[in-house]
Amino acid sequence: MTQEELSYSATTQNARSILPADMISVEEARERILAQFAPLGAAQTPLLEAREQVLAEEIRAGFSIPPLDNTAMDGYAVRAADTEGATYDSPLTLRVSGYLAAGSVYDGQVGPGEAVRIMTGAPIPAGADAIVPFEETDEQDESHVATSWEQSPRENVRIDVEARPGANIRRAGEDIREGDAVLAVGTVLGPAQIGVLASLGLGEVQAIRRPRVTILSTGDELLRAGQPLEPGKIYDSNTFSLASLVESYGAVARTLDIATDTVEALTARIHEGLADADLLVTSVGVSRGDFDVVKEVLAREGEVDFWTVRMRPGKPLAFGSFPIRGEGGLGGERRAPHLGLPGNPVSAMMTFELYGRPTLYTMLGRGDWERPRVRATVRERIDNPDGRRVYARAVVTHVNDTGGRDGRYLARLTGPQGSGVLTSMARANGYAVCPEERAAIEPGEECEVLLVGPVADERGA
Ligand code: AMP
Ligand code: MG
Repeated sequence: MTQEELSYSATTQNARSILPADMISVEEARERILAQFAPLGAAQTPLLEAREQVLAEEIRAGFSIPPLDNTAMDGYAVRAADTEGATYDSPLTLRVSGYLAAGSVYDGQVGPGEAVRIMTGAPIPAGADAIVPFEETDEQDESHVATSWEQSPRENVRIDVEARPGANIRRAGEDIREGDAVLAVGTVLGPAQIGVLASLGLGEVQAIRRPRVTILSTGDELLRAGQPLEPGKIYDSNTFSLASLVESYGAVARTLDIATDTVEALTARIHEGLADADLLVTSVGVSRGDFDVVKEVLAREGEVDFWTVRMRPGKPLAFGSFPIRGEGGLGGERRAPHLGLPGNPVSAMMTFELYGRPTLYTMLGRGDWERPRVRATVRERIDNPDGRRVYARAVVTHVNDTGGRDGRYLARLTGPQGSGVLTSMARANGYAVCPEERAAIEPGEECEVLLVGPVADERGA
């Protein structure tokens, strides 16, 4: 062992000895939680509301797209053979026999020596097998507005370039063929998928519904926006950061009032707020030995396990379930799973990132909750005094000194890393990970970083 390895292992061993023996890893906590969740049911959903939801039906095409061969350019529909030999030096002339805008079908034929003036997207008239764009005719310098054409149609058109058969024609079914399976069950509906569904004329689809998440923050110190600041009080931020995370991950957030009056009133409020919830998220004291009215209610009315997880920030975590009163059905009690996050604002957000996000994605039928990871060179030291996995908030940039294809990532810590320093989350686009077995990551060393936001390019750092 080198001196360095010795000092690492000494520190880690000392640190381990002060940790509770029943600490679990981030992965174990996540597995235990995810074991309790499955995708929710599907519902008929208006297209725009289905964004980022998962498709619950296979989409087959009832018709081809495009439905007919059509022109990719504004120009003239011709018989390719009629343009043979045309060049800028010795152009040919065709007789203009008609005009066709997008949206209608030409009712005549393009005969030998004829051309039909045609606009992008219009179906190819019978008889024609190529499009000569305006740029290759004597219309290249004129304005092409339809009204001026209708007022003064021309009799002839000069063809400057020979057209190959099929030139500038988009074939029927080039995008989608009638009967094709276009989108599979399980597809995440992003903007392009929603565009494709719209192109098939669909106004709504079967999609796995969005989870409903009830959020409760409590504490005698908490104030709502608008209340005057008083000594000893702080404004409730967890309700808002957590509701924002819930909504940004595609679920629907409902927030409950923070006031902790009596045990009875609080119990009633939680039950009321849970009516149709798929998940209850709390951020209240979950450390062992902590006293909190809410904690008492949650433990007495529901079932809750208190865990210590080998991570920083966010060591204490609670998980259980809470009965939903009311429409329980024939004696069958419905229960809402309960994810109990720590109260510290950074810990609450970080634990929601690590456990809440996979939970919501699982209910949404999505498996792609892992964040992209990169190796980055760390600028400042990341301390790990007690052998947990540290998620340090960092500003990640991509540095490319050479201007070539390769480059590297750089991670600068956002500043103080306390679990109450919420601006560290606000500044970060990445979480730099110091593994459990490392006592520190030194400046200049590489580590893994989870990317949670866009990464800017930077030169010569
Ligand atoms: P607790 O987990 O309730 O012991 O709280 C730990 C720390 O987080 C304390 O400093 C609380 O004031 C703070 N905290 C708890 N809940 C919130 C909240 N909703 N918004 C902002 N800070 C909170
Ligand atoms: Mg508290």
